Amino acid sequence: MSQMTVPFYGHVRQYHNIKAEIDKNLQEVLESGQYVMGPMLKRFEKEFADFHGMKHCIGVGNGTDALWLTFMALGIGPGDECITTVNTFFATAEAIWIAGATAVFVDSDPRTNNIDPSKIEAAITGKTKCLVSVHLYGQCADMKAIRQIADKHNLFVVEDNAQAICARGNGFEIGELSDAVCTSFIIQKNLGTFGDGGAVVTNNAEIDRKVRKFRNHGSDKRSVHSYGFNSRLDDLHAGVLSAKLKHIKEWSDLRRKWAARYSAGLAGAKNLTLPYEAPGNYHVYHLYVIETSRAEQRDPLLDYLNNNGIDAKCHYPIAIHQQEGYPWGKQARIVGGVPNSERNAACCISLPMFPELTEQEVDCTIDKLLDWDKAQS
Ligand SMILES: *Cc1c(COP(=O)(O)O)cnc(C)c1O
Repeated sequence: MSQMTVPFYGHVRQYHNIKAEIDKNLQEVLESGQYVMGPMLKRFEKEFADFHGMKHCIGVGNGTDALWLTFMALGIGPGDECITTVNTFFATAEAIWIAGATAVFVDSDPRTNNIDPSKIEAAITGKTKCLVSVHLYGQCADMKAIRQIADKHNLFVVEDNAQAICARGNGFEIGELSDAVCTSFIIQKNLGTFGDGGAVVTNNAEIDRKVRKFRNHGSDKRSVHSYGFNSRLDDLHAGVLSAKLKHIKEWSDLRRKWAARYSAGLAGAKNLTLPYEAPGNYHVYHLYVIETSRAEQRDPLLDYLNNNGIDAKCHYPIAIHQQEGYPWGKQARIVGGVPNSERNAACCISLPMFPELTEQEVDCTIDKLLDWDKAQS
């Protein structure tokens, strides 16, 4: 067989599959003459709120802004502490810092890689305001446990849902157990536009009102301004997202299908740990992340895959506290050590994962991994 190459993303395949629907919405926006805060944005905000079964959706410029504008709306700022994890995309902590608050990190669960709720209470102080749960790789964090802790200590809960649109937890929906859900629509996310975008979804009218003003120069009435910024979701992006939202369930099922195929094919590999799907969860596999048994194996395996045409990657090889210069003079603290997050960073490899994969591509990746596994001592 000639050498096959397997890409990591399928953006253009996806565009071709639903080109007519996307182009129709883009044309509608172009012909309307309303490109910023226009009717297409309104339509998508309604669709996205309905999709969550929630009352409000505010489109913003990106996922990072969704998070920090939410923190601002909750009144979180200097002197306040937000508890989260170090094994996430950098923006989770970045947003806490932009708001002026302190990031307090606790360890992740060794199997799901989501925040370990049993580590949270030790990190709570009189300054703690918010628990920030990341649904890493497309699987919900243990929101029931997180909500319980938040209620006991009177804390806000914000879901960083950049990676898990359409996921479900064990007996709960995203948004059900938090104050707000923050999402990113950058192209590589499960619901991605051709560029940057983000949204806040909430049932809280006060968060809605504030984020809506913050994103538009502190204005909800023409020429009248209070404190604010510029972070809007453009109508062209809203049009793309409105077209794509209709497919997100079918795409999530496809991601799960490829994940199941990887997991069945790799089940016998002695040197790999496969993703763990917690009972009762509907994991949407934003990323299919395996771990090598030993940290020394990771970089060689990644090189081997890349040299053999498989565009595997790492999410995230450098945890937040391991970044050079951390914490850059910002307020940050680790409570109780983060050995599980450090293992995750050292051993993780993300395999190609997108709805438009083919069986041949998945099987080719599996075969290469099994060859590598056999060659390990
Ligand atoms: C992508 C991502 C973000 C940030 O989203 P942007 O749109 O790139 O600003 C935040 N948190 C997590 C977990 C992400 O994966």
